[in-house]
Amino acid sequence: MQCALCQKDVPESDLIQLQGMQICGDCKATAVSRLTEGVAIDSAQAERETVIAVAKNQKGILWCIFAAICFLGLNFAVGLNRDTLMAVAGVLLIGRLALLCVQMFFVYRLATALKAAVPVLWALAMVLSLLLGIVGLVILLVLNSSATSYLREHGVRVGLMGAKLSDIPA
Ligand SMILES: [Zn+2]
Repeated sequence: MQCALCQKDVPESDLIQLQGMQICGDCKATAVSRLTEGVAIDSAQAERETVIAVAKNQKGILWCIFAAICFLGLNFAVGLNRDTLMAVAGVLLIGRLALLCVQMFFVYRLATALKAAVPVLWALAMVLSLLLGIVGLVILLVLNSSATSYLREHGVRVGLMGAKLSDIPA
């Protein structure tokens, strides 16, 4: 049988029932104190899932930021030379649209994980980056920094390429 809190496999005789959940001996004290505080016994489990979702989607956002900066640089370089403009414009546009889809996907997922007010609006706002690349970059950076503060508040270190997943307590 599995403990509802730590997910450890323990013999059924070692589990106690609390609010319909099977809790092992090690987790009993935590579960009882949560009960007396009036919070859900498995709130830590739900929180851990949120931390993992934020960490994973932030990694996606970081790649999107990297790609967005590359495209801004590329646009600038192409703008300098009119002859190359026509040749690369098509490729650039297709690449840009593909990137936009990936960006909208990760923006939606991270905004949802961070419990932002209207995740769809964040994703739709990314379309503005087609008109002005810097707008998309700002949205990505804002979401990235809220993800970083959320993760740090939960004791997870965040480096250049995102969170250390091994830091997330079991
Ligand atoms: Zn347990």
